[in-house]
Amino acid sequence: MAKLKRISEDTFKFHCPACGKEHVIKAGAKYSPPYVWYFNGDINKPTFSPTVMARWGKYADPDWKEPAEPGNWSGKCHFEIRDGKITFLKDSTHSMAEQTIDMPDVVYGSGASAVA
Ligand SMILES: [Zn+2]
Repeated sequence: MAKLKRISEDTFKFHCPACGKEHVIKAGAKYSPPYVWYFNGDINKPTFSPTVMARWGKYADPDWKEPAEPGNWSGKCHFEIRDGKITFLKDSTHSMAEQTIDMPDVVYGSGASAVA
């Protein structure tokens, strides 16, 4: 089963169960520019390296003013994807830090399609 949605030739996304958000990674088969991340090309058993840091809200912009209403306004998700498993590193702000889980399967129907 696919673990990633391919958005374009070199851009992929997945639903992160720790954040409840989708994280997008732009990656290629080599580290060479413009790519920062290596991707093994397997959407069913993906490996990316090095680790990826997703940040939003105050972690992306120190001047960000959080709204008063409760919500997932700011966060940091630092993860490694290897052989279809995600390891969340301990500097992540969510409760799954320091855990390794199987990536959830892609749920189709939100517009993007997976291409093997
Ligand atoms: Zn996340």
